[in-house]
Amino acid sequence: VKRSILEVAVDVPLPTVYDYLVETEEPPAPGVRVAVPFGNGRRCGVVVGHRVAAAVAGAKLRGVETILDERPLFDAEHLAFLRWAADYYHHPLGEVLGAALPVRLRRGEAALPLGEAGWRLTAAGASVDPAHQRRAPRQAAVLAQLREHLGALGHGTLTELLGACTPTLRALRAKGWVEPCRVKDPPPGVALPEEAGPELTGEQRRAVAAMMPAVAGFAAFLLEGVTGSGKTEVYLRLARAVLVQGRSVLVLVPEIALTPQLVRRFTRRLGDCVAVLHSGLADREREVAWQKARLGAARLVIGTRSAVLGPLANLGLVIVDEEHDPSFKQQDGFRYSARDLAVVRARRARGGRGCPVVLGSATPSLESLHNAGAGRFVHLQLHRRPGAVMPTLALLDIRDQPLEGGMSRVLLQALEQTLAAGDQGLVFLNRRGFAPVLACYDCGWLSDCPRCDARQTLHATSGLLWCHHCGAQRRAPVRCPQCGAHDLHPLGQGTQRLEETLAGRFPGVPLIRIDRDATRRKGSLERLLNVARAGNAALLVGTQMLAKGHHLPRVTLVGVVDVDGGLFGADFRAAERMAQLLIQVAGRAGRGDATGRVLIQTRYPDHPLLRTLVQGGYPAFAAAALAERAAAQLPPFAFQALFRAEATKPDDPRAFLEGVAALTIELRVPEVEAWGPVPAPMERKAGRYRAHLLLQSRGRPPLHSLLRRLLPAVRALAGSRRVRWSLDVDPVELL
Ligand code: ADP
Ligand code: ZN
Ligand code: ZN
Repeated sequence: VKRSILEVAVDVPLPTVYDYLVETEEPPAPGVRVAVPFGNGRRCGVVVGHRVAAAVAGAKLRGVETILDERPLFDAEHLAFLRWAADYYHHPLGEVLGAALPVRLRRGEAALPLGEAGWRLTAAGASVDPAHQRRAPRQAAVLAQLREHLGALGHGTLTELLGACTPTLRALRAKGWVEPCRVKDPPPGVALPEEAGPELTGEQRRAVAAMMPAVAGFAAFLLEGVTGSGKTEVYLRLARAVLVQGRSVLVLVPEIALTPQLVRRFTRRLGDCVAVLHSGLADREREVAWQKARLGAARLVIGTRSAVLGPLANLGLVIVDEEHDPSFKQQDGFRYSARDLAVVRARRARGGRGCPVVLGSATPSLESLHNAGAGRFVHLQLHRRPGAVMPTLALLDIRDQPLEGGMSRVLLQALEQTLAAGDQGLVFLNRRGFAPVLACYDCGWLSDCPRCDARQTLHATSGLLWCHHCGAQRRAPVRCPQCGAHDLHPLGQGTQRLEETLAGRFPGVPLIRIDRDATRRKGSLERLLNVARAGNAALLVGTQMLAKGHHLPRVTLVGVVDVDGGLFGADFRAAERMAQLLIQVAGRAGRGDATGRVLIQTRYPDHPLLRTLVQGGYPAFAAAALAERAAAQLPPFAFQALFRAEATKPDDPRAFLEGVAALTIELRVPEVEAWGPVPAPMERKAGRYRAHLLLQSRGRPPLHSLLRRLLPAVRALAGSRRVRWSLDVDPVELL
């Protein structure tokens, strides 16, 4: 027996790996999970290395309690990638590995046995000759089949061959001749379903031809194309080519629940090697998909953000669809960007030889456009929509216009004409709930959230006031809590108020509301969309949910009720987000023979970026917005890291961040500026006070080397104060 010292990354918010002793013939390899004593408790950790000399003297080292896996869950390449990510985001390796594991494995539970549930012959059963079992023909048949199949068969296959045979199996088991087992999945075949895709358009062919030669190594492509221009078709061709070569494919999408058609399309075209990984799966399902990807049984993984952290045997292609979507950034804990990590993962794939990565979007992020401009990404464009025309955009000046449920007369008339022509109209509202706030017209009371610097929203159906920031709810009062007057009114509009106005104005026209409230139940979104696709004249009312992935061919008019709220957000990315949302929503509309129209209501019709968007489309907008960013020295022309701090006492977060700012100045890195601390845009949230300190640098390396030196001191400082703090590298939201 040999004594070895293991480096173990434990899933705790501390930046070190810990040494543990183990006494075995063969010490567990890196990537194996171990249960270790930690503090007064017991934790699951992952072996990340072996040590020659322990940092702590040998005598004081604690021993590993249990070795949890026979074989590593992370191979060397996977582990090295996650180490890189931990390092880049300055986040504890133990937590990064934890985020990469399915929840059962993270908790230290035994890995699920893979393969189909089935039956095998025992030694006793194998020595029985079925021909001698004449009085039990069913049992003889089962024994014969098992013999023919090397002693084991899946339950499903047995049933297929012999019909229902559970009682027979039970009898055989009682005799000790068969026992339950797991039957290995058939080895991943390269057999793909027949190519059933349409003939590619010239543009699609050129895009595929540009990417194909790159499949041997790393290359990054930005595939820009409006909704319906055929990007997915391009992904399918590339994926197929890579699968045929025996490599695997990772497809990242913002939200799977909203894009079941995409998953179905990949499955239909590429067959059974597809596995889906997302948070909506049950723990066990998720783990099985994860294990299949690790073992190479699933060779195409479609997943949301966290799938980029998962295992992928022999990775040959990475696709990020809707790459501009903010949901690719994790907003708490390990705050990584799945889009950025996708590029890193592709570069490091196959032992450093690399594989191609394709970022697709109708409205690429300014970061990716900048990368394309700088030559780091190859920029490919699809302009045409096979069989459809892009709708035109127009601004509606609503200054001094009477509004009905938030809609101007011009917009209502346009809807009326659309319906009269037998078409569908869509009214888009970037908000949910009945009205943002309840107000007293007598004394000015507003429905403030008692725990946040925000107002509670009135939800008419439930009669509740609801805070969208902390979740606090209460019954909406009938009389003003401040002055007692019976003069409470909803301010502003929500989808429900719009709906009432539309129903009154267009009686008898079907009204379909698509937002998170109306689609909480599984499958209800698809049902609503099917109604929309099948129907004739109808009105749709929807929120941001509509901007994702759904084609609504019967919609020829889109009305955007309020663009201004988005234009003037506190975040410097507000205009970019609003432009992406507008173009995405516009992209839902239109069909082959009719040009769609998008009418955008605004009180700022002279806003330069808004005008540029309407007149020149997204590319013109993006160019103008990038020029503004360059002039203001904001990302992507600078690199940021944001310290957030919060505490129950109002002064604590500021004082802590002032300490961090002072430490930053002491380190004297002239390239890095520290801005703040400032109170967070919503200073109080869920009863806690919050402040920010923003670090910004012209280049990445000075910022990261500063952070590396700064963080130990920040941890020491935090230890002496009652604050919760976090670091967000490349933040996408400054709120
Ligand atoms: P995107 O991913 O850019 O939204 P899709 O690949 O989903 O575009 O294509 C939009 C629609 O056009 C789909 O119904 C698709 O089947 C169809 N389509 C795509 N490429 C072609 C083509 N070359 N010929 C005919 N139809 C196509
Ligand atoms: Zn009042
Ligand atoms: Zn609140």
